Amino acid sequence: MAGVLVFCEVKDGKLKKASREALSAARKLGAGDVAAFATDSTIASDAGAYGAKKLFAASIGPYETEIYTSALEQAIKEMQPSVVLFGGTSNGRDLAPRLAARLNVGVASDVDRLEWTSGKLRARRPVYSGKAFATVEVTGNPAMATTRPNAFPEEQARGGAAEVVEIAAPSVDAKAKLIETKASEAGELTIAEADIIVSGGRGLKEAANFSLIRDLAHAIGGAVGASRATVDAGWIDHQHQVGQTGRVVSPNLYIAAGVSGAIQHLAGMSSSKHIVAINKDPEAPIFRVADLGVVGDLFQIVPALTEEVKKAKTH
Ligand SMILES: Cc1cc2nc3c(=O)[nH]c(=O)nc-3n(C[C@H](O)[C@H](O)[C@H](O)COP(=O)(O)OP(=O)(O)OC[C@H]3O[C@@H](n4cnc5c(N)ncnc54)[C@H](O)[C@@H]3O)c2cc1C
Repeated sequence: MAGVLVFCEVKDGKLKKASREALSAARKLGAGDVAAFATDSTIASDAGAYGAKKLFAASIGPYETEIYTSALEQAIKEMQPSVVLFGGTSNGRDLAPRLAARLNVGVASDVDRLEWTSGKLRARRPVYSGKAFATVEVTGNPAMATTRPNAFPEEQARGGAAEVVEIAAPSVDAKAKLIETKASEAGELTIAEADIIVSGGRGLKEAANFSLIRDLAHAIGGAVGASRATVDAGWIDHQHQVGQTGRVVSPNLYIAAGVSGAIQHLAGMSSSKHIVAINKDPEAPIFRVADLGVVGDLFQIVPALTEEVKKAKTH
């Protein structure tokens, strides 16, 4: 067994950021040649540019757990990799444990560091809401891991197009069928992929005031995040929720306005590279993780910040 197989996802004809990061992490691992698995063979050059020598392509349409599990299992049988990596997207996090259980191997989830030593995969995982790190060794062959979004820098390898190996669509009597897919609002970035996230909390007072957060997010090129309190109040959809029962994110910049910084919220964002907090309470726990704290009224600060960003962009 040798090499690393990476489960890749495609959006608008291009590799998703999480997949580019997982491919880059795979290359750096030094566990042999890197191959990609995807449902779209047209991304062979894109996959090659991120270091994949081969692309296992299965024409199996939109994501359905059981069908994807079987197709990926087939690619694993063909390639016999030592390691299988998944970007930590909803699909990657769904697929990895299912496949690991089927192959009776170990999987480390949400890892932010990977190491290949003496034929073993070692991974670091944030635990206890990011307060500590656990280093785990994955048993079984192939060893599997899901990578935390934004934890591994994406780096191009400048390789040629990956060689495409077709994987036949598995005949699976799936117990669940995909009926409908609803896309989020056109052009809106998802918090899972964004480099910048602007989050709003209960300090916004009501749903309509999320427009302040949206305006800043659009001006700065970021995604809209939210605390659970605002999601529970029905001000914004759950897909925006950051935290223990929402999404774990690690963007380059996280701006929190009117968010107190409860432990369950911090669990989802404290590994962000730079954190800016705007809160009128100087004792708010969010300031303990913030690199830059602004004590003040978000209704004054957020629109002023949006204006400054717009001005800076026109210069
Ligand atoms: C099992 C469990 C799981 C949970 N999972 C999550 C999760 O995934 N994500 C999550 O976010 N929470 C989660 N929670 C809820 C969490 O405990 C908090 O209740 C929640 O995060 C609070 O949201 P908030 O910060 O928006 O509201 P609050 O705690 O009410 O904070 C509002 C903040 O706004 C500030 N403020 C008010 N007015 C202004 C103003 N004009 N200008 C500036 N600042 C202002 C206040 O000073 C305050 O700090 C979970 C809880 C449990 C028990």
